[in-house]
Amino acid sequence: MLETLQEGTRQLLGLELTREQLQRFQLYYEELVAWNARLNLTAITEYEAVQTRHFLDSLSLASPELRGDAAGKAFKMAGSSLIDIGAGGGFPGLPLKILYPDLKLTLVDSVGKKTGVLGEIARKLGFEDVQVVNGRAEELGQSPDYREKFRVATGRAVAAWPVLAEYCLPFIHPGGLFIAPKKGDLKAELKNSPAIAKLLGGKIRPTPEFVLPGEAETVGNRRRLIVTEKPKHTPRTYPRRTGLPARQPLG
Ligand code: SAM
Repeated sequence: MLETLQEGTRQLLGLELTREQLQRFQLYYEELVAWNARLNLTAITEYEAVQTRHFLDSLSLASPELRGDAAGKAFKMAGSSLIDIGAGGGFPGLPLKILYPDLKLTLVDSVGKKTGVLGEIARKLGFEDVQVVNGRAEELGQSPDYREKFRVATGRAVAAWPVLAEYCLPFIHPGGLFIAPKKGDLKAELKNSPAIAKLLGGKIRPTPEFVLPGEAETVGNRRRLIVTEKPKHTPRTYPRRTGLPARQPLG
C-alpha cells in the first residue's frame, strides 16, 4: 500500500510512516477520488501521481533542510498552528496533519462547496479539531480572529508569489513563517520578492532547490520552498481589499 509515498517519505524526510498514517493517506486518496467525481478538487487522481505530486509535495514542507532552518535549530512544525490558504482538496495542509496529528490546522477556501467537502474529509480522517473556514484571504487577513494568529501560513497553487505573500503574511505573528511551495522557473515571479516581503514585515531566507523522489530532473519539476520569516508586524493596510492583490500585485 502506498509504496511510492513510503519510499518517498524515507528519502525526503528520513521518516518511516506508521501504519495509522498510511491508513489515513489511503483513506484520503479514496475520499479525494470519490468527491472529485462530483466536484472538481484536483486534476491529479491517478494513484502514483497523487502519492508524489500531492502527498509528497505537501510533506516537503516538513523538511527542516528544504525550509532552510538554521543548523541545529529546526523549528517544530508538530504542535504549531498552521493556516492553509486556498486549500482546495486539502493540500498541503491535510498531509501535514496526517504527519503531525497535533498540528493546529486551519483550512481556508473561498469556495463554499470545497470547504464543505474539506470538513467531511477531515472528519473521515478522524480529525475533529481541523478548523475549516469558507472565506477570502483578503477579508480573513483583516479579521481580528485570524490576523497574526498563526505560526505558519502556506498556500499552494493559489496565486503568483507576490499575491500569495499579501494573502499569507498577515496571518502569521512575528516570529512565524510563510512557506510557499513553488516549482518551475521562478525568476520572474520572485524578481521583487525581497522588497515585497519587507513591505509586509517579512524577510526571505535562502532555501535549496530540489526534485521530489521519483520525479525527473527537468526544469518544470524543480521545486523550492520560498520561506519568509516575519520579524515585524504587517502594516494594517495589508491585505488590501478583495481582488486588489491579484489585480495589482505588489512590486
Ligand atoms: N491548494 C490546493 C492544491 O494545491 O491542490 C488547491 C489549489 S486550487 C488551484 C486554488 C484554490 O484557491 C481554489 O480552491 C480557490 O477557490 C482558492 N482561492 C483562490 N483565491 C483565494 C482567496 N483570495 N482566498 C481564499 N481562497 C482562494
